Amino acid sequence: MILSCEVVKDLLPLYYDKVCSKESCSLIEEHLAQCPQCVNELQKLKMDLEKPSVPEGEVKAMKRISTEWKKDKKVSFTRGSMFVSALAAIICFISYHIIGAKVLPDGTLVEPFALIPIGYLFVLVFIISLICSLLFSRKQK
Ligand SMILES: [Zn+2]
Repeated sequence: MILSCEVVKDLLPLYYDKVCSKESCSLIEEHLAQCPQCVNELQKLKMDLEKPSVPEGEVKAMKRISTEWKKDKKVSFTRGSMFVSALAAIICFISYHIIGAKVLPDGTLVEPFALIPIGYLFVLVFIISLICSLLFSRKQK
């Protein structure tokens, strides 16, 4: 059986991946032995599959964009946590003063004491976020 060049071109990817039947393989090899055009097609297929046709410059640009994106994510996250922790700390201290302290008739002091350490905890988170944000933005330059 003699295969036409078109049929061989269709089968070359299967032949290259070695997933076609033995019979097809031997027919393709028979054709390749006589047809330099199809040998060229096979060479092109090998080149395309073994070396992706993305230019070096584009690969570098993609890597640069990827690292910038990761840095931007870190900076955005630290700025977001800075904002949220500062807001939470302010809310804690203001609500502590609004609620206020009172002494019950039996002499016990009632005050929202828990808001003070929670507020200072948010201040600590704010300071850590501020330091991280400064470090990340310094690395970017
Ligand atoms: Zn051919």
